Amino acid sequence: MKKLIFLTACLLATGPLSAKERMVKILLYSVSKPAALTLTPGQGKVLVNATPLKAPALISAKGALVSVKGFGPAGRAVRLNISGKGAWLSGGLSPKRLYKGVLEITAEKSRLKIINTVPLEEYIAGVTSGEAGDLSQMEAFKAQAVAARTYTLKYIDNHIKDGYNMCDSTHCQLFTGFGAIRPCAQAAADSTRGEVVTYQNKLAATFYHSICGGRTETMTYVWPFEHKPYLVSIRDGPDRKPYCSIAPGFNWKTRISMKALTGMARSQKWILPTENVQKMEVLDRGVSKRAVTLEFSTEKRRVRISATNFYHGVGRHKGWDAIRSTLFNVYSGKDYVVLEGRGNGHGVGMCQWGAEGMARLGFKYRDILTHYYPGTVCKNIDDLTR
Ligand SMILES: [Zn+2]
Ligand SMILES: [Zn+2]
Repeated sequence: MKKLIFLTACLLATGPLSAKERMVKILLYSVSKPAALTLTPGQGKVLVNATPLKAPALISAKGALVSVKGFGPAGRAVRLNISGKGAWLSGGLSPKRLYKGVLEITAEKSRLKIINTVPLEEYIAGVTSGEAGDLSQMEAFKAQAVAARTYTLKYIDNHIKDGYNMCDSTHCQLFTGFGAIRPCAQAAADSTRGEVVTYQNKLAATFYHSICGGRTETMTYVWPFEHKPYLVSIRDGPDRKPYCSIAPGFNWKTRISMKALTGMARSQKWILPTENVQKMEVLDRGVSKRAVTLEFSTEKRRVRISATNFYHGVGRHKGWDAIRSTLFNVYSGKDYVVLEGRGNGHGVGMCQWGAEGMARLGFKYRDILTHYYPGTVCKNIDDLTR
């Protein structure tokens, strides 16, 4: 009730925001957290705390202070205002990236904290380009743009306690700036401006992933969240030729030595430092046949862990390419296990490569969205808030 009054007050104060005016705050470099970056002006104007930037300058963090070389002593915050086509940030572990809009830079423990405020629709074009980079079909790009827009607005409070809306990693949605936005991603965002996926007149939780492997998974088998009627397992096209079977890496195979598996299980605290993994099995599976619970046998006992935890644990330990999904069979040998699987990603909601496959068959983006989110309806965000 309190929330409703607050919302009404906001609407009264400012009027309903149109999609064009919505802004989103994104934490940049959320994974690498660099201590210093070089700012290089591009084909646009850059103001550093209201002073124009003419040449590349180093931005660095020291303790809780941040400085831009040549722009006075270090302080608590630096504000960059980048207009036109943007300015480049480079250094750290990532390649140079083009950013625009307002960048508010502070420092935490000698690491830069960079929050970029950009119009929602420009962010959606950037996310669509990054998330659907390998696809080719316009209708697949449009489906991705609508899913990304809906996800952003649904989870706009994901990181609000830390002062921003979304981080730039796949924890929220991959956003690598404005340097390489594919024209079809921009066109997809423009032509679907303001459009979102709704369920019972509310924003839907539009999770998406790369390749489902033939069948998406009911969300509750993957995460312990409240059941959503539109996040249920769906068959992704004909059994023999799923829509996403066109994807490179649809099938995968990984061999892990027992020694490596033991090391990983110990580091994740699934087993004690004195135990060794001797066998690995799948105990139960979800609707799509994704592994839900795994069992490790050691000298002393059997240990059960969730397949999602295993998937994330391996991702952290060996990189995301080692085990690409939980849709796998395990073949346990004496010294190693072989995992043979299909698909890439968590398997919930829209399958990006399936969207590409559907688009190649002539389906339109709204058909694609209702295929992956059954029972949902596409609407304009402004028709929802009124
Ligand atoms: Zn995040
Ligand atoms: Zn699929």
